[in-house]
Amino acid sequence: MGQNKTVWDNPADIIRHMKPDHPVMAFAPSALQETARRFVAGFPGLVTYAVKSNPEEVVIQNLLAAGIKGFDVASPFEIDLIGRMSPAAARHYHNPVRAGWEIDHAVGAGIRAWSVDSRSELDKLFARVPTETDHGPVEISPRFKLPVLGAAYDFGSKFGATPELAAELLAAVAARGYTPSLTFHPGTQCTDPIAWESYIRVAGEICEMAGVKAKRLNVGGGFPSHRVVGVEPDLEAIFTEIGETVAETFGDDRPDLVCEPGRGLCADAYALITRVKALRDGSSVFLNDGVYGGLAELPIIGNIDRLQVLTPQGKLREGDPQSRVIFGPTCDSVDRLPGELTLPEDIAEGDYVIVHGIGAYSTVTNTRFNGFGLMSHATVMSLA
Ligand SMILES: *Cc1c(COP(=O)(O)O)cnc(C)c1O
Repeated sequence: MGQNKTVWDNPADIIRHMKPDHPVMAFAPSALQETARRFVAGFPGLVTYAVKSNPEEVVIQNLLAAGIKGFDVASPFEIDLIGRMSPAAARHYHNPVRAGWEIDHAVGAGIRAWSVDSRSELDKLFARVPTETDHGPVEISPRFKLPVLGAAYDFGSKFGATPELAAELLAAVAARGYTPSLTFHPGTQCTDPIAWESYIRVAGEICEMAGVKAKRLNVGGGFPSHRVVGVEPDLEAIFTEIGETVAETFGDDRPDLVCEPGRGLCADAYALITRVKALRDGSSVFLNDGVYGGLAELPIIGNIDRLQVLTPQGKLREGDPQSRVIFGPTCDSVDRLPGELTLPEDIAEGDYVIVHGIGAYSTVTNTRFNGFGLMSHATVMSLA
């Protein structure tokens, strides 16, 4: 895309002036900072950003500017990225399975917070990670799981110990002289605070079973973004519910709280500008981006229906809603958005479809499959 402007007013401004033929990710730093400030002000503990959801450096920079002081890092790359961009920030290495060399790399980088969900991986940490560093004590948090409740996607199918195993791991961590803490991830896009409640209560039971007082409880990510028209996430209600459940469950033994949102922080700071390549015989819509690009996540966790259609002149199409099948540009038949989505009936070839709330698990999972995936980034003052 041309560079005659560095900051655009909004996605329509980009469309009017650039008429981009390739997908454009429009990023609004002001929207990101506003959400970050909501988390910092409202969450009753430390807010750490799950870097995997969107590791763009402008995202990290704006989160730091808005007061985010910690990061959930899952790989040596993410550890080094945050170490370089913000040496003073907390880095929690919360990928519970690691190769030996990755553990050594993280120790060398000064990591002091680890999660674990198995005996074998805990033994690897015991063998390679000191209990103390020059910068302070080292924390290990067993990660536990429950059957999924209220999430769009079940994280527990890959990670998490049963509560019984988590208690055994927690006792072993404390006996070995590390700081014992607990962590969980309720699943992603949890619109109902109930997703956190049962986890927090079980965290209390795990501490009892282990006979150990957890120093911190990390309540994971899973905070929702605005994906569906009319269902706006109520972050403050979730923060309140978490605080109250922790107070009820732990009383005077209340652990310090940590959360690690990815999607809830970054998703609503982006809109994806795609272009209509074709309306096949006036019915299905073919876009220049799809499930191998910026829309990779939709088949896994469901559609975003916050769509707008603009003409190349940047004018909003306001025709009656009509259901359409939407395909991406590749020759692969799975390159299709789930079900059907409603778009204005007067949508035309060459129009633009703007997908709002697309900042998480999109820029970073974009592929070059089939020769597509040339995605550019632009900064906007506002997404509206
Ligand atoms: C991916 C991940 C997150 C972020 O999840 P969101 O649903 O995007 O908030 C948080 N913690 C861990 C350990 C993760 O793997």
